[in-house]
Amino acid sequence: MHELSIAQNIVDIIHQYVPANERQRVRSVFTIVGEHSGIVADSLTFSYQAITAATDLQQSALVIEHVPFTVRCKECGAESRTEMGSIQCPACKGLDTQVLSGTELRVSEIEMEDEPKEPS
Ligand SMILES: [Zn+2]
Repeated sequence: MHELSIAQNIVDIIHQYVPANERQRVRSVFTIVGEHSGIVADSLTFSYQAITAATDLQQSALVIEHVPFTVRCKECGAESRTEMGSIQCPACKGLDTQVLSGTELRVSEIEMEDEPKEPS
């Protein structure tokens, strides 16, 4: 299951950036997923919940932001969103294009709960 290892990678990233004594305050983990990255969002969310259950990250939620698959054409310079991850330029039908976005997967932001207030 591809998504399980990706979810594990995301947890590793959180561990890298958030010290152990602050992980209980992690609330939202914003993840950018390209629409042509081959990742099934529901499956990734499920895997993340399964991995973090009964850990200090169990209160956190994975928030997935999709980015469209876009290419820049080296022939006519157009930047276009394409269907089904095609690299063909929709403007001039050229194939000499560069992928701009849509295949990436990265953690963009880790949102923490505020410091607990001292009881007054
Ligand atoms: Zn073109």
